[in-house]
Amino acid sequence: MEIVKSVKEMKELILEQKALGKTIGFVPTMGYLHEGHISLVKQAVMSNDIVVMSIYVNPTQFGANEDLDKYPRDFEGDCKLAEKEGVDFVFFPANEEMYPNGYNTYINVEGITEVLCGAVRPGHFRGVCTVVAKLFNIVMPDVAYFGQKDAQQVIVIKRMVSDLNINVKVEVCPIVREADGLAMSSRNSYLKPDERSAAIVLYRALSGVKRLIETGESDAGRLKEHIYEIIRKEKLASIEYAEIRNAEDLSDTQNIKGNVLIALAVKIGKTRLIDNIIINNI
Ligand code: AMP
Repeated sequence: MEIVKSVKEMKELILEQKALGKTIGFVPTMGYLHEGHISLVKQAVMSNDIVVMSIYVNPTQFGANEDLDKYPRDFEGDCKLAEKEGVDFVFFPANEEMYPNGYNTYINVEGITEVLCGAVRPGHFRGVCTVVAKLFNIVMPDVAYFGQKDAQQVIVIKRMVSDLNINVKVEVCPIVREADGLAMSSRNSYLKPDERSAAIVLYRALSGVKRLIETGESDAGRLKEHIYEIIRKEKLASIEYAEIRNAEDLSDTQNIKGNVLIALAVKIGKTRLIDNIIINNI
């Protein structure tokens, strides 16, 4: 496995591989790898000749009062895991490499970035789209792998790829959870023991609402109320949003029909966690 820090070198290495006829699978991450990231790598290794993982904590997707500085990092540990899983190249650029002096170009996907996480994290998706588009131009992947954990991110990236005619196939991988249902996340490392126990309330709420839909409830308002009831019982939890939306375009939905996304953002103490499920209600 090779660690690459320069954009120029990364592009040259990719072009070499492409000239040999190799297909490129790409897994963009912010590092501090867990089983969720690894599930993406496994998919990429299975379906591509060469696998590139980027590890880059992208400053432009963090708000001024967010956790950019304390975001967990373990580059050496990440490299060991990546190598074991069969990653060929780790792209690990410095900020000056990605945003050199004079950098002035940003990508803004409209509408679908103004709800859910986009509403509470203004500028977040502008940063995500910008860095992902840059990474696509550098790594030139045939297929890029993203997790359903970040449901809105997947929809926004797919929109960007389609709108800008970017030549990449976006593959979405299922959410990997801990044994008790908590969705794996690098940010789970922030949780103190009592907060870690409290954090399963997200999955409990999602499972509860799924059961309610299975018993025939289809009114989004009542389903949301059920989520609020469950989460309010957990003293360490405060809801940022609990929403039920069309799973393809994030439009608002009053009645649960077709593919719906049930998405949560909840603070456990100071740690912000997100989770979601997609339900197909015929
Ligand atoms: P991050 O390092 O948090 O930016 O995540 C990098 C990629 O891994 C994104 O596409 C995430 O959606 C995905 N990912 C993160 N956590 C999980 C998880 N628990 N299950 C599946 N994919 C995940």
